[in-house]
Amino acid sequence: MKRSFKLMGTGAGPGTPSFFCECAGCLEARQYPKYSRTRSGAVVKTEIGNILVDAPPDLRVQLLREQIKDIDNIFMTHWHYDHFGGLGELEYYGKLARKQKVPLYLPPSAQPEFAAAFPNLFEVFEVKSWSFGEQYWFGGLSITPLAACHGIETAGFLVETVNKRLAYFPDTSGMPATTAHKVKGVDWLICDATFCGDNWFPQVHMSAEQAIELGKALSVGQTVLTHMSIHYSRPVVNSELAALAAKQAGVKVGYDGMVFEL
Ligand SMILES: [Zn+2]
Ligand SMILES: [Zn+2]
Ligand SMILES: [Zn+2]
Repeated sequence: MKRSFKLMGTGAGPGTPSFFCECAGCLEARQYPKYSRTRSGAVVKTEIGNILVDAPPDLRVQLLREQIKDIDNIFMTHWHYDHFGGLGELEYYGKLARKQKVPLYLPPSAQPEFAAAFPNLFEVFEVKSWSFGEQYWFGGLSITPLAACHGIETAGFLVETVNKRLAYFPDTSGMPATTAHKVKGVDWLICDATFCGDNWFPQVHMSAEQAIELGKALSVGQTVLTHMSIHYSRPVVNSELAALAAKQAGVKVGYDGMVFEL
């Protein structure tokens, strides 16, 4: 079986289209569903099973769309609703299909929040904490949580095999120096591009332009934009994002279902 990293969703918190929004980006996504973006998450396929990275509220729809039937481990970047809201979707997978607990690696500080939000899911998950800098191995693939800048305790994940290195940072504002040092030169940097043009929340998120600059500064093979909101200062339609990415080599606009072979 081939190892891979698949983007399950590439939207920011509001999703695209948002039910309450009629901006050009949302209108485009309503008319052409291929331009819609579910909330951000990923699945890493390894020789020994699937690792779910974040459980966005759209999780059920995403798993059906990608025909993924097994989840063997879960790693959470941070405890914001657009990343954890779908954990409850796994209750009946655990109870009816898997019938054994799924290891769930949380940010250490999110343990009380998990217990408060999902007191009944200790039946379904083997709840653990990840540690920054520790390398977790799954066959010939490792995943390492690295510190991101997002206001609350947040990881980006460095995913490595002997052949490839991929860094997944859906929610961050730049990178601490220690993280940047480890991410330098990766094959793919999949990066927070919540905004386009004006960055409304520069302490916790990035714009597409800033993500592209970060990729250049870190000499990555390819910068892939994700966690795109598109509705803020100006609506952004897909052709505008594509034009922005096309201005420089090695930049791609992420989309739901995009796959990277590892
Ligand atoms: Zn909109
Ligand atoms: Zn967040
Ligand atoms: Zn988010």
